[in-house]
Amino acid sequence: MNISVITLGCSKNLVDSERLMKQLQAAGHRVTHDDATDADTVFINTCGFIEAAKEESIAMILSLVEAKRRGDIKRVYVIGCLSQRYRRELQEEMPEVDGFFGVDEWERLLAVVGGTLHPPLFVRRLQTTPRHFAWLKIAEGCNRGCAYCAIPLIRGQYRSTPFEELRVEATILAASGVKELLITAQDTTYYGVDLYGRRRLTALLRALSTVRGVEWIRLHYAYPAQFPLDLIAELRDNPKLCKYLDIPLQHISDRVLKNMRRGVDGAQIRALITQLRAAVPDIALRTTLMVGHPGEDDEAFAELLDFVEEMRFERLGVFRYSEEEGTYAARHFPDIIPDDEKQRRYEAVMALQSRISQDFNSRLIGRRLRVLVDRYEGDRYVARTEYDSPEVDNEVIIPATAASCRLGQFCEVTITAAEEYDLWGREASVV
Ligand code: SF4
Repeated sequence: MNISVITLGCSKNLVDSERLMKQLQAAGHRVTHDDATDADTVFINTCGFIEAAKEESIAMILSLVEAKRRGDIKRVYVIGCLSQRYRRELQEEMPEVDGFFGVDEWERLLAVVGGTLHPPLFVRRLQTTPRHFAWLKIAEGCNRGCAYCAIPLIRGQYRSTPFEELRVEATILAASGVKELLITAQDTTYYGVDLYGRRRLTALLRALSTVRGVEWIRLHYAYPAQFPLDLIAELRDNPKLCKYLDIPLQHISDRVLKNMRRGVDGAQIRALITQLRAAVPDIALRTTLMVGHPGEDDEAFAELLDFVEEMRFERLGVFRYSEEEGTYAARHFPDIIPDDEKQRRYEAVMALQSRISQDFNSRLIGRRLRVLVDRYEGDRYVARTEYDSPEVDNEVIIPATAASCRLGQFCEVTITAAEEYDLWGREASVV
């Protein structure tokens, strides 16, 4: 068959799609990603954790059902989080879909296209990211009980991927040209507790640093409570670990953090950020905040704005609270903050952050930085510094005349100009 896998949602979903594509290829099918043009069969790997993501997934399913009705494709299968969470409702509402599968039903979904599951192949993937970087999913599920979050209801309890499997997976990725490993899970700092009875993230990062060809390791989705302090020293001392940490904090007000059941208070968060900055002075901290959560009155929101001003995160994203059925928050707190007020708060935080980001970027002008070239666009190369993760953070624009810069390679540039979310550079020398 000509099968296309379409991925919606997060980096964890993307890794699942890449693994599925490898299994489908092993079953003898021709497989493409995010392009149903020549496909006769499509698997939609959906996202279902908040309203906006659910709407996007349903719109994608409807568009492919329409394509099936037109005869452009023969079969549509829906997998991933939305299907896991709402399979029965979706089956009733969308009878044209050929099958709905949950997040752990590999055997069943491969059987519908005449395939069988090859577990040893799980360490191999059909990479969909540019050859020089790849996501490494180190665990599935989550044991945290954040009040607003439906992910544990969808993805289940925390399951660390065995240490050795991850080392093999990283070695295979590096052998195929990957230089940058993007470490992901729902909560990377919890890695190992379920499988080894203790936190093993720092040991894992150290082991991955020894994989030949890996030059950058970037850590995402760290959790602030019970933060493994040995990780701070590793971020400082390990030259392969990017001076970058993605640590979603969600809020700073003690009352809101309590309502969110984050298991950490404002003072502990401040102490951790201060400790990180003291130990790793040039670290770029990325965080995610949520506005409009039940309990966030004007005073709590003002506290959040002051916190953003005070901590000056290099990278920051904001979510608006979305009431998700089945979550603790939906069962215990009415969602009383109007959408337009959530929007106003979202815009206020992002306006403040754009000033902070501009200030941070402006201080990079004149600095010589090592960048990784992600793509070539006509008269320019687009690259990233170690302070930037793909797709969510800043990019560095370099003239295509830069002889020392090549796609998928590192090169050194001197920053010549800065905007709030982009930098410009010229080549410094060949690395
Ligand atoms: S850490 Fe909290 S927000 Fe993140 S996936 Fe787990 S429950 Fe959800």
